[in-house]
Amino acid sequence: MAVSAVQVQFLCLPVDRDLMTASCRKEGPFGVPRVSCWLLVFSVTFNIVTPCISSPQTPKHSWPNLYTTRNKSQYITIHAMAQSGKVFLGPVIHCPSASELEILPFALVGVNSEGTIVSLIKNADPENTQDLVAALDVSPSLDTIHLLAPGQFLIPGFVDTHNHAPQWAQRGLGQGMHILDWLNAITFPNESRFRDPDYARRIYASCVDGFLRQGITTASYYGSVHGEATNILAGFCLEKGQRALVGKCNMTRNAPEYYRDASVEESLQVTEACIAHIRHLDPEGKLVRHVLTPRFAISCDPEVLQGLGQIADRNPDLPIQTHFNEAEQEMKATMELFPQFTNEADLYEHYGLLGQRSILAHCCHMSEYELDRLKALGCGVAHCPVSNMTVGGGFMAAPVREFMRRGIKVGLGTDSGGGFSSSILDAMRQAMIASHAREVMSRGQDTGLSIGEVCGLHDKVGNFEVGKEFDAIVVGTQGPEQGIMTMVEDDDTLKTVFEKFIMTGDDRNILEVYVQGRSVKAT
Ligand SMILES: [Zn+2]
Repeated sequence: MAVSAVQVQFLCLPVDRDLMTASCRKEGPFGVPRVSCWLLVFSVTFNIVTPCISSPQTPKHSWPNLYTTRNKSQYITIHAMAQSGKVFLGPVIHCPSASELEILPFALVGVNSEGTIVSLIKNADPENTQDLVAALDVSPSLDTIHLLAPGQFLIPGFVDTHNHAPQWAQRGLGQGMHILDWLNAITFPNESRFRDPDYARRIYASCVDGFLRQGITTASYYGSVHGEATNILAGFCLEKGQRALVGKCNMTRNAPEYYRDASVEESLQVTEACIAHIRHLDPEGKLVRHVLTPRFAISCDPEVLQGLGQIADRNPDLPIQTHFNEAEQEMKATMELFPQFTNEADLYEHYGLLGQRSILAHCCHMSEYELDRLKALGCGVAHCPVSNMTVGGGFMAAPVREFMRRGIKVGLGTDSGGGFSSSILDAMRQAMIASHAREVMSRGQDTGLSIGEVCGLHDKVGNFEVGKEFDAIVVGTQGPEQGIMTMVEDDDTLKTVFEKFIMTGDDRNILEVYVQGRSVKAT
């Protein structure tokens, strides 16, 4: 199955300079550490990498002064070309590799009508845009030119590797509670409401719009236990244009009777029906696919885990997601239910649920043995620092440094609503706050790996190289779109403005969102 995929996104965080190693303390001209000062978060398949930025000491005045004669974004339609391709001209920031952040003061990105990037000119002439387009091997599929306005730049879309769509309306509730208490008191009563398809439509429409509004072009969703509601969520992702993994959540025990699958058989049957429905919606899996989603072992009878492992075996294109070693309370309960195992890695592997397609949320408490197993099996980790430090019990922080050192794939998740925020920008900032994440960032040597292969996904997004699919965000930083972001000054370089956006921007700065070349931002 040729899956368009989910591989990723980025984001960058400046590092706490006090924690940086001596080799990383060289500062750029604007007080920003020059080396290893960014945490790149490549998503859909999670990569958190600590790159040494290759160059980018962008000259002063290279941006935004390029546009001093232009007040508004220019949108020029070439009427002779009838198709829906696009050309973007202006500042571009992306990661050509997992270890390099590239800042291009003025570039051209051409996108054909299929949403595939067909041109990337990294050093374009801003005074000669029409000739630039004319010089391209422009096909009739390239019909519009978007000339970014002052203060705007183009970045790849964000990827959220772990969230719960039915918790969209409960974000922020029960913060500070221990995980199992929070599930029983807050989450299960809320998620049970999705038995009502009308309720599911109302919340899921808002959820998908809300994530797109924040620039999340790819999301890995846990649904509720309900098959119909899960199908509704998948339908909205496809209709609204969000790249997504959507999973019917399996729960047959240790959940209230009003909110669990009626039996092992029903749990598996509904899962198979959702897989079939989503394949019917998107036969080639270009945007939406089902993801096998046992909530965690506590809520699943052994027969459910075994059945899901068999489904995974029969469907090698389907990713798998679950919660893994999230909190001590959860781990203790898991081992009591499965006394034949001494750790969760052995448990999930036994049932055929660990491998290169597995997305394991949290992984806060990891033994040497389990770290070795995750590496050997090729699993990916969804690091959710906001929820780890608010819901679950204790101030939990996954050993991201160890993941990186060992080459275990890691990406960022919002885990909303366990995490109070549905913003990847917030997840990035929280990751920076964690001391282990800062240490990871300071190393600058570990190379992140794509979890795309793990999920059976191809590297289709994540930067603007020719051949990738165009998942992108137009960021605005001046005028009414500035919001409360740190104000941009005339002598700021593009790199400085980018850093201000990452640390202080929000959805008000996200002006346009594209998935596969299609404009998808909710108005
Ligand atoms: Zn979760």
